[in-house]
Amino acid sequence: MNTKFCSMERMEDKIKTFAAYGDAGHGGITRYSLSKENIQAREEFTRRMKAIGAEITVDDMANMYATIKGSDPHAKRIVMASHVDSVKNGGNYDGILGVISAMEVLETIVDQKIPHKHPLTAMIWTNEEGSLYPPAMMSSGVICGKFDKTTMLASKSVLDRKTTFKEALEASGYAGSIENRLNPNDYKCMLELHIEQGPILESAHKDIGVVTCVLGMINYRIRTYGQADHAGTTPMAYRQDALYAAAQVLTYLHKELDKLDPALVYTTGEIKCHPCVHTVIPDFVDFSIDARHEDPNVIEQVVHIIKNMPKEVAKCKVDCEKAWSRDTVYFHKELVELVKKSADEADISNQYINSGAGHDAQFVSEMIPTTMIFVPSKDGHSHCEPEFTSVEQCTNGASVLLNTVLKIDTK
Ligand SMILES: [Zn+2]
Repeated sequence: MNTKFCSMERMEDKIKTFAAYGDAGHGGITRYSLSKENIQAREEFTRRMKAIGAEITVDDMANMYATIKGSDPHAKRIVMASHVDSVKNGGNYDGILGVISAMEVLETIVDQKIPHKHPLTAMIWTNEEGSLYPPAMMSSGVICGKFDKTTMLASKSVLDRKTTFKEALEASGYAGSIENRLNPNDYKCMLELHIEQGPILESAHKDIGVVTCVLGMINYRIRTYGQADHAGTTPMAYRQDALYAAAQVLTYLHKELDKLDPALVYTTGEIKCHPCVHTVIPDFVDFSIDARHEDPNVIEQVVHIIKNMPKEVAKCKVDCEKAWSRDTVYFHKELVELVKKSADEADISNQYINSGAGHDAQFVSEMIPTTMIFVPSKDGHSHCEPEFTSVEQCTNGASVLLNTVLKIDTK
């Protein structure tokens, strides 16, 4: 099969157009799920997809599907999907690039009159970031049976702590029909193109990441218990400072975890200090530790270190509790190889890579064959305004997506 290529001009036009919806005025966007700006992006998607003759449907979680017919009316749909919502002060590529690339694939197929058997769908997942209505990957979680819909509908806005996701959904006009959901009877497979959100591809001078899996992870809470006392009247030797103890525990964990496989990543991103008053010695600290690695044996070693850390540090009691965990999610082998083959044939430099971040594709992979394609992130930045991938790299990604879809279509 000869390789087809997407249009750089069309890609650039879409990147610029969508960057205006939620433009925060300094190079990035804030486009919360179902916000006014988010609906503008959805309207743009609808306008452009209708212009190429796609049929638009919406399901009960406001996920949107734009489908062009194939030559076989009984064939299952091949879907390309990502999200249009962003974090607060996010960039112009996370999520939206996957949607733009899916649109571009359909536009190229229609424009070049490329024959295909299967119906092809460009899709928008609702509320992937979960920045306004937690949790992340809310709608794929509901559709794939991971999250309870009623619980999700009750999720409250982190801004006003009042508006529920259900109210936002109803007000948006995008509450569609449950029959329209992605499902294994009507859908053959899903592909998600996404920015890498890390520095690996850029530093290896590769234009495409052939994604093999989403890393397994654990999340623990570590707690230290001290005694609250006056900051001015308590001599140092008398203190049981829970924050000082937490700092030592954290240093201990870093030292021990650094002895494990160098591909292990771990983070303390959240800390609660009580009473958090500058005149009071802290009596309680609770902090998170998130660790990710492909190999469950390495994760097990991490858990062993956490469980066997000192139980008393700086005269403070220390304990831990598992918050949650997930196993490594491997993508569909055959699809992974089709992505690799498509990149090779198009002469686009590529390498295998795993995803340290979560994506809708990881839930979907438990329902239908799924895989992902990564494009480089400049300086590894994401979830921030400097997020950048060149138009050439974006278009290369779309072309690999296109050729992978065409290969699946002929299988
Ligand atoms: Zn994303």
